[in-house]
Amino acid sequence: MENIEKPKLKALSDIASIDISLEFNDILQSILKITCEATGAQSGTIMLVDELDNNIRMVASYGLPQDYIERVYDAAKKAGVDLASSPSGTVLETGKYYLVPNILEEPKDKPWYDLSKELGFSSQIFTPMKKGLKVIGLLNVYWAEPRRFTDEEINFVTIAASQASSVVQNARLCGRLENNVQELKQYKENLEEKIKETHKKLYDSERYLRTIIESSLDGILVVDENGRFEFGNDSAFNILGWPEEELIGQFFMKVFPVDMEDFMLDRFNDIQKGNETPYETKIITKSKEIKYLYVSHSHGVIKGIRKYIVVIKNVTENKKLEQQLKEYHEKLEKSCEELKEADRIKTEFISNLTHELMTPLTSIKGFVELLNDEAIGTINEEQKKSLGIIHRNSERLIHLIKELLDISHLEKNTLGLHFGLVSINDILSKCILDMQPLAKEKQISLFQDVRPLPRIWGDEERLTQVIINLLVNAIKFTPQTGKITVISHDFTEQVKISIRDTGIGIPSDRLSRIFDRFYQIDSSTKRKYGGTGIGLSICKNIIEKHYGSIWAESDGNGSTFHILLPKLTSGNGVSNVKPES
Ligand code: ADP
Repeated sequence: MENIEKPKLKALSDIASIDISLEFNDILQSILKITCEATGAQSGTIMLVDELDNNIRMVASYGLPQDYIERVYDAAKKAGVDLASSPSGTVLETGKYYLVPNILEEPKDKPWYDLSKELGFSSQIFTPMKKGLKVIGLLNVYWAEPRRFTDEEINFVTIAASQASSVVQNARLCGRLENNVQELKQYKENLEEKIKETHKKLYDSERYLRTIIESSLDGILVVDENGRFEFGNDSAFNILGWPEEELIGQFFMKVFPVDMEDFMLDRFNDIQKGNETPYETKIITKSKEIKYLYVSHSHGVIKGIRKYIVVIKNVTENKKLEQQLKEYHEKLEKSCEELKEADRIKTEFISNLTHELMTPLTSIKGFVELLNDEAIGTINEEQKKSLGIIHRNSERLIHLIKELLDISHLEKNTLGLHFGLVSINDILSKCILDMQPLAKEKQISLFQDVRPLPRIWGDEERLTQVIINLLVNAIKFTPQTGKITVISHDFTEQVKISIRDTGIGIPSDRLSRIFDRFYQIDSSTKRKYGGTGIGLSICKNIIEKHYGSIWAESDGNGSTFHILLPKLTSGNGVSNVKPES
């Protein structure tokens, strides 16, 4: 600095004391102005290399028109030269200052002769603004007249360029810092926003969970590792019958009666060992009321500490109902036993009574027949009629007693069947023949449409009893001049017998009930047609003992009773039984 004149030294000190809080461009403008004034220059420019696109741009000018740079570019374009070959381009490339003592003698300035003349400058100095070895811009100073540059001038402009470079670098650094600060500010704001959002979410989810826990009808409790109540929802304290403040922090045994102590301590041991099987227990409330609970639990780790989460349900009402049901069941069982005993006594009584009745009745019937046959002496017509009535009524009584006997056998399951090969055709023919007189009394026509059927395995007497029963019913419930038809079918594995009448019919909702013991469709029927409601139940039992089935149909034109009986198969060794002709 020794070879720099005092005014220039002052200028340098002025540059150093420029207020750096000013706008970046204003600072550069001031540096340029001070430099030009100190060197007596007419004009000057500061150009910077754009950090993004690497293009050089004018950022400050002194003593030049605003469109100076555009005109430089235009002139270069017109002359067809590349700006890189201009003095500025040379400085950028070499990183050294470039002197133009007289523009008109400078070949590099040729394309701009006219512009220089117009703007009135003849000599120039182009100085690099550096950051280390890299050129980041240029400080250019122009004089009106051609000149010989002294070292002092060159030094001064070089120092001014380096000052300008420092300002640019500081400003850029500040700019970046500013950007970083802005980014950080933005980041902080975003972060704060996110924290707020997370807080809200947490608050919402806590409120959500709390609402669920509080609105649960089941009690939810948290018990710590030492068995002390730590938390409970409203339902829990309601169920336990203790206020929250008297339970929190207390040992869980506080809510159990003395007789549950061992049981509950065992349960607590189980829980600690990881056995989470639910159980029932009883508690005692603050007001000494006993309640029954269903307890299920699991364990969890809250803030690193093991806790037991206990869910309690009040099952006191269920327990009471269960108890009542148990008592009711016991009573029912007792009544059932008593009824069974009464039924057994009744069956026994009927069995004895029927035997007792049968003997004298058979003897009455026998003597009536003897009297009627005049084996004991002659009788007149009047007496014969009376004997006929006695005979019919004693037969009715014998039939009734037989049915009663069957019933008592059915109840004791002792209705013995004597199986053998039987001909359904024979049974049907015999029954129809036997029933013809009864049918005739009511002018009912009794037909048969029966094909030859194979013999089947069955009890002839009992099967006859079934057919007679169905025919007697058909005649009984068919009005005068009606029609009864007996039909048979031979299926592959079964034979079917159907007895169709044109009688009063059976309502569809009673069709299955008529096979129940003592069931009659209505009491008026009973009065009109008599009977006991026993016959069909005996028929059903006999047919089922033959592995067959019996059912009734009624279509408004009378009733049809169907019987299906299984045929013998080769497995029985009697498959060679031929159909009868
Ligand atoms: P009972 O004939 O002695 O009353 P059953 O067990 O033989 O007893 O019959 C039960 C009831 O079924 C009868 O009272 C009657 O109401 C009904 N029933 C049976 N057969 C017929 C039929 N062919 N037509 C209409 N109703 C019938």
